[in-house]
Amino acid sequence: MAGGGILGTWHALELSRAGYTVAHLEADAAPQGASVRNFGLIWVSGRRTGVELETALRARQRWEEVGATIPGIGFRPSGSLTLATSDGERKVMEEFAAHPDAAARSITYVDPDEVVTINPAVLGEVFGGLYCTDDAVVEPRRALGALREYLSGPSGPSGPSGPSSPGSYAFHSGRRVHGVEDHALVDTAGTRWEGDLIVLATGAGFDQLPGTERVAARVRRVRLQMLETEPYAGELTTALADADTMRYYPAYEVVSQDLLGQQSPVAAAHHLQLLLVQRADGGLTIGDTHAYDEPFDFALVEDPTLELLDRAERLLGAALPPVARRWEGVYAQCTDGAVCAREELAPDVWLVTAPGGRGMTCSPAIAADTLVAAGVG
Ligand SMILES: Cc1cc2nc3c(=O)[nH]c(=O)nc-3n(C[C@H](O)[C@H](O)[C@H](O)COP(=O)(O)OP(=O)(O)OC[C@H]3O[C@@H](n4cnc5c(N)ncnc54)[C@H](O)[C@@H]3O)c2cc1C
Repeated sequence: MAGGGILGTWHALELSRAGYTVAHLEADAAPQGASVRNFGLIWVSGRRTGVELETALRARQRWEEVGATIPGIGFRPSGSLTLATSDGERKVMEEFAAHPDAAARSITYVDPDEVVTINPAVLGEVFGGLYCTDDAVVEPRRALGALREYLSGPSGPSGPSGPSSPGSYAFHSGRRVHGVEDHALVDTAGTRWEGDLIVLATGAGFDQLPGTERVAARVRRVRLQMLETEPYAGELTTALADADTMRYYPAYEVVSQDLLGQQSPVAAAHHLQLLLVQRADGGLTIGDTHAYDEPFDFALVEDPTLELLDRAERLLGAALPPVARRWEGVYAQCTDGAVCAREELAPDVWLVTAPGGRGMTCSPAIAADTLVAAGVG
């Protein structure tokens, strides 16, 4: 197993449960990729009808199961509110809520009074919203470590209280894979790692190994900007989104979006939407922007940050605490609409990558599907 992000870690867990002894290689001293830079949203609401939604629902169930066993993941089934700040946005939301696709995602329309009942921290002027009870949150900067600890520990899959014949697990940081052979990987130190089944989950580095050209032809990188505030005094009982998310998430393609009106110039230039999640320590994770053309800017730019902060303050109807940190993140995404790219590069060596902006959500189900594709699940 190579790649210490969420996709690699869920594969390690499923392989261990299936009885494999797992050696888990990570290039860096600790995983620093998209999996620790995201919102931690287990986001069912925006998923495209069909295999994408089905994958997300399966994965969400698995997150909940494992979250109950591993509190360190910080799983919270808190749901989400997507909020309207104009009459046009409210009408689009009401139309979506009346569509059968809304019920498939546990989404209902709620009026402004109900919004405040569900999430008393929303004190700004809102016209209504979509309430999704299936959406959930995990703590992205703690989840990987918590899963690895579980895998290695006495009460995890390798211990006596795990599944019937689980395999043992060892994490090896600082091991960068650069060669792929039949049933084996070779790292830059020259160590050859043999296995009955090998999975490469190298995230946005999908094109840095030999034999990955076919996958690279149907995958692109996307760069996002994010920020986090100091702890917020109030408690947010749900994640929040604004109506611009309806422009990006495929679930909403079933309704006409004309009434959403024009995006602001900053939002249009940066493909911006507001997503807001309260962390377990009270800080607010706020994003995001999307850039699709490489080479990406190396700098974090201020215009979208200010717009996001302004939008968040308007929804909460309160001043935000100071920004504590800003960062960028890059994920890999299939350009053909597939949930992920999964290809056998050499006998029993699989590359699995590019779950896009839904990778934190879908990783458990993607990992289970890899075992099926490899004929062992
Ligand atoms: C800012 C941001 C916000 C997001 N928000 C959400 C969200 O809220 N919900 C959601 O569902 N999804 C979200 N996503 C998407 C999600 O984070 C990604 O799809 C997911 O984390 C991808 O996981 P991964 O394991 O494939 O990649 P990564 O997390 O990038 O992990 C890949 C790992 O492989 C290692 N690696 C690379 N090359 C090698 C090599 N040659 N040898 C060994 N190791 C190697 C890297 O060091 C890295 O640790 C977001 C993404 C970003 C960037």
